[in-house]
Amino acid sequence: LNKKGFFLVKFMRNFGLYLHWPFCLSKCPYCDFNSYVAGALQEERWEKALLKEMKALSEMMEEEGGLSTIFFGGGTPSLMSPRLVGRLIEGAQGFWPVTESELEITLEANPQTVDLKNFEGFRRAGVNRLSLGVQSFCDEELRFLGRIHSSDQAVKAILEAQAIFSRFSIDLIYALPRQTQERWQQTLEQVMTFEPRHLSCYQLTFEPQTPFYKRFDRGELAYPPEELALDFYTQTERFLKKQGLLAYEVSNYAAPGEESRHNLIYWRGQDFVGVGPGAHGRFHVKGGGRVAQDNTRTPAAWLRAVEAGESSTLTPLSAKDTFEEWLLMGLRLREGIRMEEAFLRTGKPWDEWVNPDKLERLEQEGLVEMAPEMLKVTRAGRLVLNALVRELFFCGEYFN
Ligand code: SF4
Repeated sequence: LNKKGFFLVKFMRNFGLYLHWPFCLSKCPYCDFNSYVAGALQEERWEKALLKEMKALSEMMEEEGGLSTIFFGGGTPSLMSPRLVGRLIEGAQGFWPVTESELEITLEANPQTVDLKNFEGFRRAGVNRLSLGVQSFCDEELRFLGRIHSSDQAVKAILEAQAIFSRFSIDLIYALPRQTQERWQQTLEQVMTFEPRHLSCYQLTFEPQTPFYKRFDRGELAYPPEELALDFYTQTERFLKKQGLLAYEVSNYAAPGEESRHNLIYWRGQDFVGVGPGAHGRFHVKGGGRVAQDNTRTPAAWLRAVEAGESSTLTPLSAKDTFEEWLLMGLRLREGIRMEEAFLRTGKPWDEWVNPDKLERLEQEGLVEMAPEMLKVTRAGRLVLNALVRELFFCGEYFN
């Protein structure tokens, strides 16, 4: 490895911790996340189990870099007590070395579950970035989405979050059935009045096993026509760019330097470890090799497994798995992927994975751009990203 190679390996070895809290107050009809409605919980039992799993995973991991981010996702992690959040942050800092001057610690919150006091508690516990699931400012749309907060509650939560957290992000959903571009524009304009420096804007999809999917299957719900869906996307990207928020990933927009460092870890193919029911990870293990980590999915089964001393399932990742996953995630980013990293990640150079003729054709079609070291997807390419990545996968399959 040359000097740059060593730098890249070191950079790639900083890792993130994802903590999954699988409970919500109610289940939204579009949601296919691993989340459940639960009554009273024994927080102490959960604390013990989460810390036990963290410790077990930290003993398996090979640490060349250090812990750089923690992300509390769910579910609705704002239903956790600030005390529990604080204990888990302390635990993580004890199990892993921290190399960054300040960890990025994000917590997802729903407007219905928070108030100023909670926010202050989370901040004191160490959370320094909040991701708020607002989804819409229109009560009718919120009701359609099955959200239990109102537009007023969303506004109140944003104002309170702003008062406590210097870094916060807002999630919105668009392309709802019968939603017009004018209506979506009003949502975008309203969200910008809060001067967010990070936004996630997701297109509504009907995921299998959800109540929305059943309605979609019966013909009661439909996607907007393809052209309108593209118009929504273009409208979002153009408007937010004018406001200084750049699409650094397909659904994520940020002012320069305000990108989610944790999510960049996923998209850049760095290591991360997942703690909690159904959490996943990708990391290097002691003794060599990189693995996919998968946890038991349901909360009760996960608790039993961890308490019985059973840890997550680890599956070795082949060079091909690693290459395909890196391509799939990395091309979501505007910055693209550094082709020479193929060797560092898989032991084989880029040219042995990808057929240059196919790549050249995609470039001629204006779907990808080849800068000297980087492969990037163009705006036109981002609109058909999945098909494009499939095409690149085929490059690899045919070529090898
Ligand atoms: S609050 Fe979030 S995680 Fe919970 S059911 Fe709704 S969309 Fe899913």
